[in-house]
Formats: sequence, structure tokens, C-alpha cells
Amino acid sequence: MSHDPNCIFCKIVAGQIPSKKAYEDEHLLAFHDIHPWAPVHVLIIPKQHIATHAELGTEHAELAGRMLLLAPRLMKELGVGNGFRTVINTGPDGGQEVYHLHMHVMGGPRPWLKG
Ligand code: 5GP
Ligand code: ZN
Repeated sequence: MSHDPNCIFCKIVAGQIPSKKAYEDEHLLAFHDIHPWAPVHVLIIPKQHIATHAELGTEHAELAGRMLLLAPRLMKELGVGNGFRTVINTGPDGGQEVYHLHMHVMGGPRPWLKG
């Protein structure tokens, strides 16, 4: 499984940087975002290092499907019952800061809609 020793999320997968885990299996890890934008904000990542969404190929179809399928299951487990938002930032213009593919999944009442 590919791994980048300089990548923050690879270090989280390896347990070298602590995280608040929400889910883990052979292929995926989900953990709570350190700067949440919503009451529930998790990041779903593949354990293997894939830098961006743009680097996904057909060989990753099953993995990509697993990421997509985990989001609603996880929100249900975390008590989110009124919908959620999924976001994947890709590349500089997409606002990507961490270059290890991740899906933001955000649920709960959204503070940015209030006021
Ligand atoms: P991006 O802009 O790349 O889509 O989002 C990266 C996300 O990773 C940000 O929301 C940021 O808060 C989160 N993040 C960055 N470093 C860490 C970390 O060390 N631990 C956790 N839990 N989240 C992180
Ligand atoms: Zn990585």
C-alpha cells in the first residue's frame, strides 16, 4: 500500500499523529476534522496515499465506491438524522490543503446558515 512519509494523513493512518477516529477498516479511515465547520465533521480517507481526487483511476473504482458508501452509514452512526454535506477539495483552485485524498462529511445544524 503506497504511503508518503511526509504526508500528514499517512501519519494519521500509521498512528504517528493522533486523531479522533470515527471508523476504520482495511481500506478506509474516518476521523473528526481538527477544525470542524459543522457540529459533526469527519474526513473519510483511503489508507493508501492518493494525493487528489484527480488522481483516481478506474483501478480505484471499488475504493471510491467504499468512500461514497461509508458517508451515509457514518452519519447515521454519529446521530446525524437531517442530512449532511459531502465535499472533496481538489488542487489549488479547489482549496485543497492536505494532499491526501479526503472526503469532508458534515452534518448537524449548519452554523453558516444562521444569523
Ligand atoms: P482540505 O482543505 O485539504 O480539503 O482540508 C483539509 C482538512 O484537514 C481541514 O479541514 C483541516 O482542518 C483538516 N486537518 C488538517 N490537519 C489535520 C490534522 O492533523 N488532524 C485532523 N483531525 N484534521 C486535520
Ligand atoms: Zn498520504
